[in-house]
Amino acid sequence: MKFCSECGEALSLLIPDGDNLARHVCQSCGMIHYLNPKLVVGCIAEWRDQILLCRRSIAPRYGLWTLPAGFMENGETTADAARRETLEEACAQVEISQPFAMISVPHINQVHLFYRARLLDGSFAAGLETLEAALCSEETIPWQQLAFQTVTRCLRAYFADRKTGRFVFHEDEIRPPIG
Ligand SMILES: [Zn+2]
Repeated sequence: MKFCSECGEALSLLIPDGDNLARHVCQSCGMIHYLNPKLVVGCIAEWRDQILLCRRSIAPRYGLWTLPAGFMENGETTADAARRETLEEACAQVEISQPFAMISVPHINQVHLFYRARLLDGSFAAGLETLEAALCSEETIPWQQLAFQTVTRCLRAYFADRKTGRFVFHEDEIRPPIG
């Protein structure tokens, strides 16, 4: 961030009085521009014993598979965001059932939240950011071609819970490899 969105002057990176972190501060109008993590929301959309995956038609991770998910928009609830992303990426309507996994990814300033959901009528198709959408069972999930570690982590927890017959909420975190 280089310029103030309020007055257009150059910003300085400094620790404001009473704060303990450096912020982008406008010394012209006094505005402090805070940068905070973004929430990525999506769902595990179930249809019988299968779940819906999308193969990405956009960067990053073009051609790899993911759960329908994306950045939450202003004015939405997290459930709204999960429903919207599933409709946009997989042309599928879902009924949200429960929050399932929340995974912090602090090195990229994101939190990923996944709901369990049910496809309303089993219909789906590739949306704008998707090459193809598919229903997968545990055996047909392309584990080696998943786009994001959070998706892998979420799906491992999902199938582990399903074996026990009891779904619980999972809080997790992903750290960059050391070294
Ligand atoms: Zn300013």
